[in-house]
Amino acid sequence: SGAAPSSALPSPQTNPEILYHGIFINNEWHNAASGKTFPVYNPATGEAIANVQAAEKDDVNKAVKAAQKAFKLGSTWRTMNASQRGNLLNRLADLMERDRVYLASLETLNNGKPYSAAYVADLELSIKCLRYYAGWADKVQGKTIPVDGSFFAYTRHEPVGVCGQIIPWNFPLLMQAWKLGPALATGNTVVMKPAEQTPLTALYVAELIKEAGFPPGVVNIVPGYGPTAGAAIASHMGVDKVAFTGSTEIGHLVMTAAAQSNLKRVTLELGGKSPNIIFKDCDLDHAVETAHFGLFFNQGQCCCAGSRIFVEDAIYDEFVARSVERAKKRNVGNPFDMNVEQGPQVDEDQFKKILALIKTGKKEGAKLLTGGQRYGDRGYFIQPTVFADVTDDMTIAREEIFGPVQQILKFSSMEEIVERANKTIYGLAAAVFTKDLDKAMYLSQGLRAGTVWINCYDVLEAQTPFGGFKMSGIGRELGEYGLQAYTEVKSVIVKVPQKNS
Ligand code: NAD
Repeated sequence: SGAAPSSALPSPQTNPEILYHGIFINNEWHNAASGKTFPVYNPATGEAIANVQAAEKDDVNKAVKAAQKAFKLGSTWRTMNASQRGNLLNRLADLMERDRVYLASLETLNNGKPYSAAYVADLELSIKCLRYYAGWADKVQGKTIPVDGSFFAYTRHEPVGVCGQIIPWNFPLLMQAWKLGPALATGNTVVMKPAEQTPLTALYVAELIKEAGFPPGVVNIVPGYGPTAGAAIASHMGVDKVAFTGSTEIGHLVMTAAAQSNLKRVTLELGGKSPNIIFKDCDLDHAVETAHFGLFFNQGQCCCAGSRIFVEDAIYDEFVARSVERAKKRNVGNPFDMNVEQGPQVDEDQFKKILALIKTGKKEGAKLLTGGQRYGDRGYFIQPTVFADVTDDMTIAREEIFGPVQQILKFSSMEEIVERANKTIYGLAAAVFTKDLDKAMYLSQGLRAGTVWINCYDVLEAQTPFGGFKMSGIGRELGEYGLQAYTEVKSVIVKVPQKNS
């Protein structure tokens, strides 16, 4: 969205140097206590590009200790002016801006997303998110309260403490920024685990965090696997809050681990199967293009992907024909090529899972109109795929595919569409395309989703909250609402000699 012409972008570094492979604790690089490492791949070729230290329980313990020490009363971090925390976040944003070409290139190498998208979307939004929360640092205010009796009462919005943050591979830098921005603006300390598929940019940012001047122990980054490093964070008695983004399946495990350990605060940002509802009175060109973008963006690897496209019967055939034509034109290939729109899926697991779901779609009777196969013969590329005649009960209309596979369903009335759109365990996002304000407003109230886009899709700016109804999650990230999960409200009540109004 809002992409500049690719010719205006600086050229990528097609072979960015990989500088950091360690565990980042106390602003220093450490090796794993176990001596283990794990391989990281380039999904465009399937080749290993680095071995990264594999953090496990002992390493997480060390990171939590560092974060607790940085959070001690009287520490540099706790006594720092709130405005200075904002300055540090702005400084980090400056450094990401300085190294923007390198970071976008490294993101492309490790994740497979097109460099143009990494530069224009991921880096742009990450930097803006950090600056947005930098501005909040000295604007988080409590209240004074007219309590009964001769007392003076006020609230403080205090940091929660040590925050565990477990992030996914689909937007490695952006998810890191969404998590660090509000946590650091409000004065918490952090133990973050990047996804095992994509730890490289997070580790480079660790070095920038040190360069920006954050005190040791404020941010600790522990690369490693979910069942080891991730689970150690979720069940740790010394972690005060855990923020998780990833699959609904692992969301259950994180919440269970929190419940069974210290009842740490939990926020979850999970999967989706978001409805995108297209009325016959829409601007058809715009709706086709935006529905295409809303599904295929980021190789279809978006939690809020518009993966159930409901089209009103009068324009159904036309919409399907145009969507197929658009998908056929989608430019797939080397993600460092400036004209490429779609790179490889992130890894072999996802690649296989998507191809299996395509097979299921065909078997259950959906009409495959284009794509459906692997693209090329190396790396994890999948052809842009469009299914029509999809019905609500089909697996591909119910399960998250997380790939470049578009499902188009048909509807005929307003009464029917709200119910069908809401008939899902998820509730992350939804969209409506119509020129009729009444229809748009009616649906914006009826759709059970954390975000409703009207005549647009995937508009995800730092100012607006984002999160899920139902099994798409708990809590909100971004915006002023995003601060709530990172603060505890404390009431302070002081006896006074006499109260006056
Ligand atoms: P995942 O949920 O397994 O991984 C997300 C993060 O959780 C990673 O950092 C992972 O290491 C960690 N993790 C895994 N097991 C853990 C555990 N037991 N305790 C704590 N942390 C743990 O996601 P995935 O396997 O990489 O992808 C599977 C599916 O998840 C995708 O197909 C997609 O449907 C969904 N997904 C959603 C998002 C999103 O943005 N909401 C992002 C990535 C994947």
